[in-house]
Amino acid sequence: MSQDPRVPSPRNRRPHTGAPRDGRRPLNPQDMRRTHAAPGSTNNNGFDRRTPGPPSARRKVRRKSPVFSVVIVCLIFAAIALAIYLVNRENPLNTPGFGDVSAAPGNRDPNADIRTTEQLLLINDPSLPLSGKLILLDPGHGGTDSGAVYPFDQPRYYEAEWNLAIAEATRDKLEAQGAVVIMLRDDDAWVSLYHRVALAHLYAMEYAKQTGELTLSDSEVRELTGMLDDIIEINSDTVDSGGMGLMSGTGVGADLAKLFAQEILLDNVLYVSIHCNSNEMSSLHGAQVYYVTDDTVAESERRLLEEDPSYQNRADFPDREVYYGRDNDRNAVLATYIYDGILSSVPQLETNAQSTVADNFAVLREHNLTGVMVEVGFMTNADDRDTLTDDASRGKIAEGICEGILAFYADGN
Ligand SMILES: [Zn+2]
Repeated sequence: MSQDPRVPSPRNRRPHTGAPRDGRRPLNPQDMRRTHAAPGSTNNNGFDRRTPGPPSARRKVRRKSPVFSVVIVCLIFAAIALAIYLVNRENPLNTPGFGDVSAAPGNRDPNADIRTTEQLLLINDPSLPLSGKLILLDPGHGGTDSGAVYPFDQPRYYEAEWNLAIAEATRDKLEAQGAVVIMLRDDDAWVSLYHRVALAHLYAMEYAKQTGELTLSDSEVRELTGMLDDIIEINSDTVDSGGMGLMSGTGVGADLAKLFAQEILLDNVLYVSIHCNSNEMSSLHGAQVYYVTDDTVAESERRLLEEDPSYQNRADFPDREVYYGRDNDRNAVLATYIYDGILSSVPQLETNAQSTVADNFAVLREHNLTGVMVEVGFMTNADDRDTLTDDASRGKIAEGICEGILAFYADGN
């Protein structure tokens, strides 16, 4: 059980959200096969695979004059440009200070997944206990990143699918209690770690605006939104790609610090990541809840620089002062509440490992909202597998997470 999430051993992928700074991520060949061909992809002959019709029909088109072809192509481009303009003009996301989070290229179908600021309208039944709360739910992995698999050699189970199912059940329970819930991944798509956190930052700013808790100036919001939109668009975990944006490097840079200072004020916003565990020791079982503290981040960043010289002296990975400004205790308290909530709902998920663990994960480290990562159970343990594959048990797990959050707030946190 490597405690450094950046150095997973090949067969022990726990903890796998561990957010390697360099984005080294194991690919699952079977998952790759499920990846859709990019729109407009062509076969070896240059024909669009989607083009129907016999070869003779295609030959006909090819005999047209080059001028005719150029005119047709221009008309198509003009039509696409017009369509994009019309769609954008009416897109409610195109308001100042809020990114068009539905339009990250290559991984989202804008028709299937339209996130709008409407979802953040915090008009709830005030009699419900989670009214006014915003919960950002992050189902780990997805798309080409299947997360942990079982069995290792011939996988039948994929963590990414279980995470999404459990997160969806959790969303339903939380909404029934009055919370506004945002799913940071809501289909089988690859969404980078920094993309997820960028979404969290955008929603946090929007929430602050709506609740009158915004401390950032208009120009700061605009500037930060632009930077976060870039991260979403690049959708990558690697340093070289720029996909980490303002989150690159150790410590916390000036721009990220502005977001951190805003987010620590937002007690009614939580970040909850959902994962399933995996370990070579099949006897390990039960739920574990992870959280970050300033010290765990500092220690693991120090180790990273020491053990991997490729991160040293890089302009795109600055080595900054250690950041001390997280609410370490609140993160730890939420972790305990959620672990206890799961246990009261699904007693067989009592773990024989450590129940709450301070560690360093990108999805918790790169924002300053109170947050946890729930490792619901071990895919590698037979009893846990029975629990995690059973729909009714998944519902109970969701109920447990929800109970934990309810108790956390009921006790004045
Ligand atoms: Zn995971």
